[in-house]
Amino acid sequence: MDDFAFKPGIKLAVTVDDLFLWKGVPWPDGYGPSIVVPAMTAAFAEHGLSHVYGFSATAPSGGDRAMREIFDHWCEAGHRIGNHTHYHANLNWVEQDVYIRDIERTAELIEPWIAEAPVRYFRYAMDNWGNTAAKYHGVQDYLHANGYTSAPVGVWFYDTEFLAAHTRVSKAGDGEAMAWLRYQFVATALRQLQIQATTARAVFGRDPIYIWLVHATPLAADCLGDILTAFAAAGVEFASLEEAMADPLNQKDAPLITPRFLNHIQKWAVHEGLTLDECPPGVLEEIEALHPMDGLDYAGVMGRVFKAVADEVGGWFERKQY
Ligand SMILES: [Zn+2]
Repeated sequence: MDDFAFKPGIKLAVTVDDLFLWKGVPWPDGYGPSIVVPAMTAAFAEHGLSHVYGFSATAPSGGDRAMREIFDHWCEAGHRIGNHTHYHANLNWVEQDVYIRDIERTAELIEPWIAEAPVRYFRYAMDNWGNTAAKYHGVQDYLHANGYTSAPVGVWFYDTEFLAAHTRVSKAGDGEAMAWLRYQFVATALRQLQIQATTARAVFGRDPIYIWLVHATPLAADCLGDILTAFAAAGVEFASLEEAMADPLNQKDAPLITPRFLNHIQKWAVHEGLTLDECPPGVLEEIEALHPMDGLDYAGVMGRVFKAVADEVGGWFERKQY
């Protein structure tokens, strides 16, 4: 793993998306939201993190009771809930009014928990803020008028791209491959933070308070503690999302309307004409080569999962464009 440290140190707010993941995701034996989410809150407790915002589509929760259990646990552990739509609609796949209805559908369900948060944050699914100017302005206007603040993703590490490989390696019972996969998961988190922070400095001339994203995947359950340890050793000081959102660089929406899978910093970089390194990381090809199994390739799994989401919400499916 890269032996480097941020000099000076950086501040970073952790956020978690998709505490239930999405309908139709193949969970490996021994994993599910009731295992993954407590493992993540335990890692946060160990590293002294509280007030971590969780953004989850509610349709994949498996019913009211399952949703209540996870959200209660999350908030009792000192964390907060934000709005992430009900079906996990992607604004690339739907019209504006359909997207807004999806925000409103989940708003009713999550009210007991979001009411406890000091700010009503909204996170766009896949950080896609609209592939047309009309959609971008339409949804942003709706959010502003309804008391929401959009929380962008500043840094991500393509963690859901590890999901299918993790399922295959689990099924294969290959301990050596699992150890390698976990190592790469942590190393990729650290490497992508380094790369995207370098990009941020090139664009903004300083470090913003970074808003980092990790999803509630089985690998996160196993590796989040190691990632937080590696981040702290590299000079990361953990901050709250409220603190990060007070940074003007996080409030300044990227002036780029795009269907591409780009986060806030990456959109700014593309707008400024910079090239993005390791986007996506080269290691993804290696992990896709692990234990090929019918129907469990990354593109196959995610295509099925998100095509079904697009169908359910009344839209059309488009694959991620890096
Ligand atoms: Zn999501």
